[in-house]
Amino acid sequence: MTAFPHLLAPLDLGFLTLRNRMVMGAMHTRIETLDRPRERLVAFYRVRAAGEIGLILTGGFAPSRDGLMEEGAPLLEDEAALEDHRAVTRAVHDEGGRIALQILHAGRYGRHEHCVAPSEGRAPINRIAPRPLAAADIARTIEDYARTALLAREAGYDGVEIMGSEGYLINEFTAPRTNRRDDDYGGSFAARVRLPVEITEAVRHRVGRDFLVIYRISAIDLVADGMSGAEVGLLAQRVAAAGADMLNTGIGWHEASIPTIAAAVPRAAWRFAIANVKHATALPVIASNRINTPDVAEGLIADGVADLVSMARPLLADPEFARKARLGLGAAINTCIACNQACLDRIFTERAATCLVNPRAGRELEFPTVPAARPKRIAVVGAGPAGLACAVEAAARGHRVTLFEAAPEIGGQLLMARVVPGKSEFDETLRYFRHRLAATGVELRLGTPADAEALLAAGFEKIVVATGVRPRRLEIPGIDHPRVLSYVDVLARRRPVGRRVAIIGAGGIGFDTAAFLVGNPAEPLDPACFVASWGIDATLAAPGGIAAPAPPATPTRAITLLQRRDERPGGSLGKSTGWILKAKLRRAGVAMVQGAAYDAIDDDGLHVAVAGERRVIAADTVVICAGQEPERGVYEALRRQGAAVHLIGGAREAVELDALRAIEEATRLAIAL
Ligand code: NAP
Ligand code: SF4
Repeated sequence: MTAFPHLLAPLDLGFLTLRNRMVMGAMHTRIETLDRPRERLVAFYRVRAAGEIGLILTGGFAPSRDGLMEEGAPLLEDEAALEDHRAVTRAVHDEGGRIALQILHAGRYGRHEHCVAPSEGRAPINRIAPRPLAAADIARTIEDYARTALLAREAGYDGVEIMGSEGYLINEFTAPRTNRRDDDYGGSFAARVRLPVEITEAVRHRVGRDFLVIYRISAIDLVADGMSGAEVGLLAQRVAAAGADMLNTGIGWHEASIPTIAAAVPRAAWRFAIANVKHATALPVIASNRINTPDVAEGLIADGVADLVSMARPLLADPEFARKARLGLGAAINTCIACNQACLDRIFTERAATCLVNPRAGRELEFPTVPAARPKRIAVVGAGPAGLACAVEAAARGHRVTLFEAAPEIGGQLLMARVVPGKSEFDETLRYFRHRLAATGVELRLGTPADAEALLAAGFEKIVVATGVRPRRLEIPGIDHPRVLSYVDVLARRRPVGRRVAIIGAGGIGFDTAAFLVGNPAEPLDPACFVASWGIDATLAAPGGIAAPAPPATPTRAITLLQRRDERPGGSLGKSTGWILKAKLRRAGVAMVQGAAYDAIDDDGLHVAVAGERRVIAADTVVICAGQEPERGVYEALRRQGAAVHLIGGAREAVELDALRAIEEATRLAIAL
């Protein structure tokens, strides 16, 4: 008896059977911008099909040049690229998988001079103003979709997904916010949804009955003048009647100021909007957004919220998600922690996506899993992200690995990160590493500070030092005052924190520490709290599903976050998540000071000069979040004795260290050992 009977049930669509209910959601990875794009894409999709995902949706392909996301973005408008597509579809079919091509017309989100929209008006997230589509353009656009769908069929795809959500062209037609037309495609609800209905009809007509047509509907727009829940339900019925086989759900426009997939969003938070689509039609419905474990996925189907679940980032984190779920190996899944650091933040900064917890993602050819030619005895010192990744990868290759950790538990910096509101998903990473340490036979010695002499005497053939970082010590008069704490004291709850707090350093950890100190312990686990604080109308009665946010609770602390640089604090935060953190701190009344020079710390608080003016920030506690220095004691002792040692992670380079770099660096070394 499986733990996930609903998730693992095949879905028979008559002309096509999916082996389970797990769908890899569409994600534009920019892999095609890397070397050997075809080979990389084939490898990327092949391992995910081999991992038993039921259905893969490709990243979006524009049906025409005016529908491109940007110049050079994926496009399928003629037969020129079909061989590349066939290589992908063959690989997926060889592994017993199914794959559908997503057709995405970017509309007014297109970052190029030819972008188009239903009506005039620039998107707030695009500098380029669109050209409103004329009637003839609309007819051509419908034909473009149909042609691309037929090309997809010729390329061997099992179906197509018509992208109708996230604020792209079709969604722009369905919402009064962006559709101010007075012709047959604007005005009334029937006119606004005419384009998606006609596109669905045209696609169905062109591809025939035995080809999967999925329509991705915007279950909740999360913008003013978006669709109401009732309109979403009616649209679902109309595209069903127009020939769609299945509905996928999208949540929120890209310009929405409400987080939709970041870790600040509780798991399965959007079930109310997805259930609205499900209840409107008899078609199978795919749930999406913040579904990252088989239990959550199973629950959504078991509860009747949806029939399938879409997971995009979780399949970057673990291509074998579905196979492990089938085998009941939930603890072995490398869980997506919704950090966006290596996927969306890289895509938004024009780099190819990979994954913080799985550096192989999108680079499968760069990170082969090859058994060691000769198993060696290896010592790894430090069980933070770098040491853990190195130990398990090396052991998986057949090396005999001993991992030394001075603390009584594994995790290093992750143990601190996990207590920050919105970062509790790091617990899953720790669970995953614990499982892998055991599964790969790493000998784990906790509470064992490594000693250079003992390491050398034990005769290890390779020694890897991953001892991490220590907080940077500042030379400010009064730095030893009892009211000065480091972020480690605060996050590890070693010392009490007063009501008035000054935080020196507004980098990632300064912001995280402020979030920890203002944090509502109910967030983000409580969906009701999430919905209320971000102003979401869970009844779906209001256009766009937005409401007035609940007034912020009276702050329990007065916090000031300072930096020396004379620029707006928060510039180093992730592109896709920094705004969420900043909004949260703003709501909590956290003051931000830039261009500060630190004069002294005494009984009155923190003395600073800002723009030449001296002032005192009254503070009961001053928290130092001013970066880190490498912790290299063991490394230097080993080097003094002439040992050849590998140094990785923060111990090698503390500047701009994060778990992404630590895990990637460690994995690369483990492959080379
Ligand atoms: P960081 O991001 O480099 O920030 C260090 C802060 O300390 C800066 O605000 C810097 O600003 C200040 N500072 C540096 N040297 C100082 C000095 N000598 N005296 C006074 N202030 C000084 O480092 P972090 O916050 O420790 O984070 C460590 C790493 O983890 C970073 O790579 C970070 O990106 C990553 N991280 C990211 C996130 C996130 O994105 N959410 C969260 C946590 C950690 P001034 O020099 O202007 O004063
Ligand atoms: Fe998930 Fe973070 Fe990996 Fe992106 S980088 S797939 S959000 S774990």
